[in-house]
Amino acid sequence: MTTKYDLHCHSTASDGSLAPSEVIARAKKMGVTSIALTDHDTTNGLVEATKAAIKNKINLIPGIEISTTWENKCFHIIGLNINPTQSALVNGIKKLQTLRAERTKKISLKLEKEHIPNAYESVLKAAKGGMITRSHFADFLLSKKYIATKQEAFNRYLGVGKSAYVSTIWANLDDAINWINQAGGTAVIAHPLNYKMTASGMKRFLSFFKDSGGQGIEVVTGRSTRDGIKRSTTYAEQYGLAASTGSDFHYPSDQGVELGHLLDLPKNVKPVWELFN
Ligand code: AMP
Ligand code: MN
Ligand code: MN
Ligand code: MN
Repeated sequence: MTTKYDLHCHSTASDGSLAPSEVIARAKKMGVTSIALTDHDTTNGLVEATKAAIKNKINLIPGIEISTTWENKCFHIIGLNINPTQSALVNGIKKLQTLRAERTKKISLKLEKEHIPNAYESVLKAAKGGMITRSHFADFLLSKKYIATKQEAFNRYLGVGKSAYVSTIWANLDDAINWINQAGGTAVIAHPLNYKMTASGMKRFLSFFKDSGGQGIEVVTGRSTRDGIKRSTTYAEQYGLAASTGSDFHYPSDQGVELGHLLDLPKNVKPVWELFN
């Protein structure tokens, strides 16, 4: 049987629109054979996802996407094949969950100052107990027609340095890698081309990641171009990192991003799943 991996996606446990069981059922429908649910700073979707994976006869790889800060910039690190009950990981992400709750209030206050009321109650209600991200605020701004597209919400209010931006110091990059490794998992750099880095900054980041015990990098994502895959492959080769593939699916009909809709990993890289035992 042919295998199809998708090692990065979101559910209602964070900023995805589908419940964990719906993500799993949809992945199955899309021909995915191994799926990692990787919600932002939480593993709360994994219990439901595990049951759904058994029912749908699909292999679930327990995952997470951890928010980290390195040199004052935010980087997302995917943990794959983690034990979600391991204490270092559990305690580590608890702090991030508190930071997110505090940031939600601060962003709401900043929006109020921009004469945009009721953000707090709205995002809290919409998230239904899941991790609240800027994506929830963007959806709120869209629903109230303060902006016309999600991108505009980031350009005008939520992006770095914009009026409702709240600078947050997330986990240390090396701490997050350690939590993932202590939980038996593999640490992977998410969407490496999204960070607006200089070439030398990227080199230092990759060296630090590798030296801290990081093992993988996303070479293929749901929005990858062939040129982007080539650039990420070069990073994987130069720093001895295994290659991951994941859509970063959040919701249906998201500009071509879909579970399992991924270009092939190049032949010359080591697939990250070879590191799972
Ligand atoms: P946060 O981790 O709370 O800062 O929120 C980041 C999330 O917002 C990402 O995981 C995406 O889901 C979403 N996001 C970030 N930038 C954009 C953008 N330009 N357009 C749409 N969604 C975005
Ligand atoms: Mn997200
Ligand atoms: Mn991300
Ligand atoms: Mn993601």
